[in-house]
Amino acid sequence: MANFIPEDKIEEIKNAADIVEVVSEYVLLKKAGRNYSGLCPFHSEKTPSFTVSSEKQIFHCFGCNTGGNVFSFLMKQDGLSFPESARFLAGRYGVDLPVGEMSAKMRQQVSEREQLIKINHQAMDFFHGNLLSGRHGEKALAYLERRGISRTVVDTFKLGFAPRAWDGLFNSLGRKHVPVGMIEKAGLLVARKDNSGFYDRFRDRIIFPILNMSMQTVGFGGRVMDDSLPKYLNSPETPVYNKRRLLYGLHAAKKKCRKEGTIYVVEGYFDQISLYQRGIENAAATLGTALSSEHIHLMKGFVKRAVLIFDSDEAGIKASERSVGMFVREGIEARVVMLPKGHDPDSYVSEFGAEAFYKMAENALEVMSFLMKTAEKKHGLSVNGKLGILADLRRALASIEDMSARQLYIKELSELLGIDERTVLEKVRETKATLEKENQISARRNERLQLAAGSERSRKAKSLNKGVENRLERQVVAMMLQYPEILPEVDASCVLDHFLDSTLQFIGKLVLSHPPGTKEGVSNLMSMVDDTEKRNILASLSIKEEMWNIRDCRKIISKLIGHSPKRQEIFLKEQIRAAERDNNQDLALKLLDELQKSTVLNRKQMREVLREH
Ligand SMILES: [Zn+2]
Repeated sequence: MANFIPEDKIEEIKNAADIVEVVSEYVLLKKAGRNYSGLCPFHSEKTPSFTVSSEKQIFHCFGCNTGGNVFSFLMKQDGLSFPESARFLAGRYGVDLPVGEMSAKMRQQVSEREQLIKINHQAMDFFHGNLLSGRHGEKALAYLERRGISRTVVDTFKLGFAPRAWDGLFNSLGRKHVPVGMIEKAGLLVARKDNSGFYDRFRDRIIFPILNMSMQTVGFGGRVMDDSLPKYLNSPETPVYNKRRLLYGLHAAKKKCRKEGTIYVVEGYFDQISLYQRGIENAAATLGTALSSEHIHLMKGFVKRAVLIFDSDEAGIKASERSVGMFVREGIEARVVMLPKGHDPDSYVSEFGAEAFYKMAENALEVMSFLMKTAEKKHGLSVNGKLGILADLRRALASIEDMSARQLYIKELSELLGIDERTVLEKVRETKATLEKENQISARRNERLQLAAGSERSRKAKSLNKGVENRLERQVVAMMLQYPEILPEVDASCVLDHFLDSTLQFIGKLVLSHPPGTKEGVSNLMSMVDDTEKRNILASLSIKEEMWNIRDCRKIISKLIGHSPKRQEIFLKEQIRAAERDNNQDLALKLLDELQKSTVLNRKQMREVLREH
């Protein structure tokens, strides 16, 4: 694993960090037996299958099969590199890391991500400094004051100002010898059309640094102070900035969100800041994009309820239609607040205060009821109106996967329209079928793209993992992980040599050479594998608590060895089928040849094998 943090420091971090504590920052965990469980942050679910073991210092999700240790959790959750996750934990748990100039070799090892984040951080300091003491900062500071933003909030959110010059940031970073290519990659520079160089992307704007949950500066939003356009400008997508996975201000809102169980979702930076300043700290803003399922995954770790706040009917309806299915899927209650005409959250709370805001949020309609009400207002309840309502709502209804929830809404709607429930259901079914077809087409397209990109090997490994035939192999590795007493016998029996699944074999050999005897042994093993799939398997096989005894273990070993020829045959057949599916005739013939040699099949059986596909 590429890192320049000394091994003993990694060890120190691992000993100091507590996975339950770290995961708790993102997932609401409850004690369940010896482990903790919660809703998985990596896939959609309503019943917890995400498990964390404090004893083994690992996590595993029984739903999506993701697993790992405290480092891999952060890597996956926040998209960090290994050294980044280590440094983050070192900071949090007070482990001193050696500082000082990096050698050339070390510099090479620093990931691109880290460089980008460092550049963003420098840019944030530049903008912030410009606001507080720059030549033209006064104007910006006065503007913020006029909007009622306090100095404390300016400091908390590190608000900044981008000077009017075309090369303010460019020169400042240039003096620090930051490579131009990297500044451009961070989205802070734009190439001139005639290829004659670069200019600052953000000019003469108030700057809002965008932080992720690990408190890293990953991008920026910029707002003009007059009527010029565009009013808002955001960082482009970069390796560290993905607006579908970020909510502005969530890092600061997290604590209150958890306390209240509610998050207010607004659309603008000023809205979020204005609410925050008035004590409504549990608010976050989308970054010029629709609410995505990733956003909802993100908030699900902190809240049970989301209140979406909109300043125009149109935006509110669109967002509600799109998100209702996602909220139901995650089991988060969602409500919609439509502000009085002419108001945005900022102006509303400035004029009426926090109490009025809370009251309005409390009385807000639940998403689906909101959609029904607006459709009713729009179409009326004439015959044509009713048809209009049905047409408006069927897409939102069809997007709800949970059958009982969908049924309840259908009932409500049929009552409103005075139409038979079955008629509504029929309409929804039709729409659902259309939606599914659309999804299938896009899924197939994705699959094709992935196939083209991914290696054939990994796909084969995957299909094998699903097969029943590696059940015995999984059992052997599980017992090696959970019942180390068996390791000498595993070694002596050479059972690993009979493995067909190369991934499981690799893991088995790793366990054999590094017996996970100590408390955090499995977590240590995970640090040794550089491959997500292997880490997932390691976690899934070690987190289950099975009762092993030496007799059963011996039975499994001898069963696996005894079944070896038969399993070899099934394995080859599976591979032949895969090769034929891929139209790889050469490989198929080669494997058939192997099959013939390794088994006692006669010609008739051979023909059957061939006919099976
Ligand atoms: Zn999961």
